[in-house]
Amino acid sequence: MSDTLTSPTLAPVPTMRRVVTAIPGPKSAQLEERRRAVVSTGVSSALPVYIARAHGAILVDVDDNALLDLGGGIGVTTIGHTDDAVVAAAREQLGDVTHTLFTITPYEEYIRVAELLAEHTPGDFAKKTVLVNSGAEAVENGVKIARKYTGRSGVAVLEHAYHGRTNLTMAMNFKAMPYSLGFGPFAGDVYRAPNSYPLHDGLTGEQAAARTIAYLEKTVGAADLACLVVEPIQGEGGFIVPAAGYLPALQEWCTAHGIVFIADEIQSGMARTGRYFASEHFGLVPDLVLSAKGIAGGLPLAGVTGRAEIMDAAQPGGLGGTFGGNPVACAAAIAVFERIESDDLLAEATRIEGVLVPALRELQARFPVIREVRGIGAMIAIELADPETGAPNAAAVGSLVAYAAQQGVLLLSAGTYGNVLRMLPSLAITDEQLHDALGVLESGLAAL
Ligand code: PMP
Repeated sequence: MSDTLTSPTLAPVPTMRRVVTAIPGPKSAQLEERRRAVVSTGVSSALPVYIARAHGAILVDVDDNALLDLGGGIGVTTIGHTDDAVVAAAREQLGDVTHTLFTITPYEEYIRVAELLAEHTPGDFAKKTVLVNSGAEAVENGVKIARKYTGRSGVAVLEHAYHGRTNLTMAMNFKAMPYSLGFGPFAGDVYRAPNSYPLHDGLTGEQAAARTIAYLEKTVGAADLACLVVEPIQGEGGFIVPAAGYLPALQEWCTAHGIVFIADEIQSGMARTGRYFASEHFGLVPDLVLSAKGIAGGLPLAGVTGRAEIMDAAQPGGLGGTFGGNPVACAAAIAVFERIESDDLLAEATRIEGVLVPALRELQARFPVIREVRGIGAMIAIELADPETGAPNAAAVGSLVAYAAQQGVLLLSAGTYGNVLRMLPSLAITDEQLHDALGVLESGLAAL
């Protein structure tokens, strides 16, 4: 493999990690000092290493360290950092038209993204879309549309869910610290039901669904629920894959009771799991699908896509916003869809699972601190627990993340108890890069 990948618009970025200073290095430390004076401490950084350039699965920091990135900005740069096609499309669009505001004078790129979302979300029926700027905004709009359509107000969510940092989405999250503590009062009429967490509840999908449904029927009543919002694979919750049959049973119950079934595919969607949307793995056909993160290769874009009759419940002027569906972000999204198709990137997610899962299971056999290896495609995690007591082992995750960072590998933690190590690399990551990261993880486990 060549030492460098040359992008037409950027200086060469190496293809393997390279650690040349302490991490963070001196220039990052200087920037961190400037930051402390002017950036709110409410905005924290998992690894205060300042990034100057990036390509594929590599981040190059201001001290010239090259980090192997298994986080992708939390699942955003799914097709790779500064993907050449995305950069070219965005640059061209930037010079043609940067902004008009779709609700004032529209442009074709917005329509094309809506067409692509209609084509690639599950379900063979007429679909419509609204584009917004962030995942949380997509969640807000999905709920808003479901309320208007049903004339009901109740919002059901699941334990261990994460949906964002706006007022409504804070109320929908499971974890108070750090997301909502002290930021209330919160939006009302949000009901949090037990989820399916096979490692901990030992329930079949059918049993777990019966528990979720019974909880909602007792505490709210189906007739008062506008929607149920679920992440098909819970992201921040720790890549929790529900037991087989759980989600289809919930969808069936929603359909029977006129509750809009909303799949929050913000982390699990856009090719991450080897399908366009993770819902497909579970045979789900959601009424509304929320997409964000990976949709535009790193530019801010998100969408609500779903049944035309539900999406059209909103009155003209009721949806939108100044930057929603920005032309440059839309051009990037079109390029992302084209790359997934033309380069069969769905297969790349499956390849990544094929490298990570067997290797992690092997590590699990040697290191009993690994309680479970789980996930689908390029969305794989290990849950760590004290081998004796079974207690969540956040300290071990913290040590592994810190160890890997020192070696130039960026890993992310997750989970309500912080005891999950998640990997959501870009689909551009090579087998060689994955094995390199696994080697670092192995030495980190040995050093625990
Ligand atoms: N839903 C899910 C499942 C997410 O993973 C996230 C972001 N981690 C969000 C919603 C919120 O998205 P954003 O940060 O773009 O507002």
